Amino acid sequence: MENQKYQVLLYYKYVNIEDPEAYMQEHLAFCKSIGVLGRILIAKEGINGTLSGTVEQTQAYMDYMHADPRFADLFFKIDESDGHAFRKMHVRVKPELVNLSLEEDFSPTEVTGKYLTPEEWLEALKDPNTVVLDARNDYEYDLGHFRGAIKPDIRAFRELPGWVKKNKELLAGKRIITYCTGGVRCEKFSGWLVKEGFEDVGQLHGGIHTYGRDQLTQGQLWDGKMYVFDERIAVEINKVDKQVVGRDHFTGEPCERYINCGNPECNKQILASEASEEKFMGSCCDECRTHPRNRWVISHGFSMEDARRRNEELKLATAKA
Ligand SMILES: [Zn+2]
Repeated sequence: MENQKYQVLLYYKYVNIEDPEAYMQEHLAFCKSIGVLGRILIAKEGINGTLSGTVEQTQAYMDYMHADPRFADLFFKIDESDGHAFRKMHVRVKPELVNLSLEEDFSPTEVTGKYLTPEEWLEALKDPNTVVLDARNDYEYDLGHFRGAIKPDIRAFRELPGWVKKNKELLAGKRIITYCTGGVRCEKFSGWLVKEGFEDVGQLHGGIHTYGRDQLTQGQLWDGKMYVFDERIAVEINKVDKQVVGRDHFTGEPCERYINCGNPECNKQILASEASEEKFMGSCCDECRTHPRNRWVISHGFSMEDARRRNEELKLATAKA
């Protein structure tokens, strides 16, 4: 058999979907019939998905979507891949595509920030009157971000409006530009900023993903890697002057390798080298290292007693250092 080529698709569209539940059933059945894997969200306000499959399978999916008048103009971001980037196929119905927890919801098809091309974005980044807001989660920012971008100190996307309200003086009279992975979060967030009365609001059209593939800008002024929600985890963006910004959770050394904390109840994403993972038993803290169901401890054939002893040794060693 010849070597199959795979692709990863990333896409979204804000468009009215009358019956999300029925559409989910139909969609899932089709995806299973062609063999693509991934994660798709369907809401009354639209669709957001990421999928992997062979070139043939992903093409069949794109043809299926484009044959639907609602999605005839749907834009797919395509990455080549060595294999599947997912293990399962999920299609889920959600109340909203992205959760901003607004009292009064709105559609970005009614109001959204000005779309900036990668070239316009790069220009805006260099303008001293610009404030750059990262609209992603903290662990995404920590792996890589635009140079000078503000990391709102929040745990989840829905906390962004609250952060903006508390930091109005930082944003007053400025040009605000915002970005996320593929654009789905910013389309909503930038619309909310406009509704809040901010006059000059821009968004990176197609997100970091599109920026990283732009021939003219070559990913300039992006530092580190882009976090992605599939098995690849980290993707390169800057082809000109890349700097590593990720730091090992334990040593503070430059690092771009993510692991999930071994404690299944924590599961936090932390940056850790292979050596740090081994030394700190793949877990973020003392409590997690000695959790009775720690996956790292179990998969390495240690008993809980071993884990506790190793943890005590670690504590002693760090206290001495
Ligand atoms: Zn943990």
